[in-house]
Amino acid sequence: MHGRRLVLPPGEARHATRALRHTQGDEIWVVDGEGRRHRVRLEQTGEEKTVGTILDTQNEAGEPPYQLALGLGLLKRRARYETFLEKAVELGATRLVPLRTRHAERDTLRADRAERLLRAALKQSGRSRLPRLDAPTPFPEALRGPEGTPPGHTLLAHRRPAADPSLTEALAGVSPGRRLRVLVGPEGGFSSDEVEAAEEAGATIVSLGPRRLRAETAALAAAAAVMLALGDGSESQRDLI
Ligand code: SAH
Repeated sequence: MHGRRLVLPPGEARHATRALRHTQGDEIWVVDGEGRRHRVRLEQTGEEKTVGTILDTQNEAGEPPYQLALGLGLLKRRARYETFLEKAVELGATRLVPLRTRHAERDTLRADRAERLLRAALKQSGRSRLPRLDAPTPFPEALRGPEGTPPGHTLLAHRRPAADPSLTEALAGVSPGRRLRVLVGPEGGFSSDEVEAAEEAGATIVSLGPRRLRAETAALAAAAAVMLALGDGSESQRDLI
């Protein structure tokens, strides 16, 4: 890759020159969304065309050492769902699964807006691989897939009188490098049928503590807990500062 020419896509060329005011000779980071981050020296700048030379390439820069599919029931308020998507990217989720559940308040998502949000969050947070955003998925289907999730690695957040393990306790049995799935309900929570189906499918029901968290808070708290429990945390972030 070193020495190769890189042409920024038109939207990115405009952003780099107009908003960030980059000029010829500047060195910038460019991510491809597929796990590569390049250090690039700009040779030609312009809103129409911005071209640079690749100086250095890093693989999987900013990516977590685990695969986290994070499912959240579709919410009534679109803005809350978008907050969830943006923050989930920052916290290292690798796949986002909008869930159509019994108590979900809607069954669609504005995919174009969501994709834009994900890309912006990817760049802002210094990741290099764009998380996959699934189409709204019926709950039973979300319980079955994705392929390759080891048994015991599907965790469903739910509040009930039973003494369920905390998410932290459940994560103690998961090693980094593994595939993990965490499912969180919509405002109305999961129905008892859904919880039962999850248990039958081998999911572990986990508690997030004594407070009733809003759905998007619960999903983000879970992503943060996974990040802190399984992230290696040793990687230098010097480059991004
Ligand atoms: N109406 C529900 C609350 C739903 S909160 C009730 O009274 O229980 C939305 C979702 O956030 C829940 O489905 C669950 O997945 C998650 N959640 C919120 N607080 C939680 C907690 N303390 N423990 C486990 N899951 C929680």
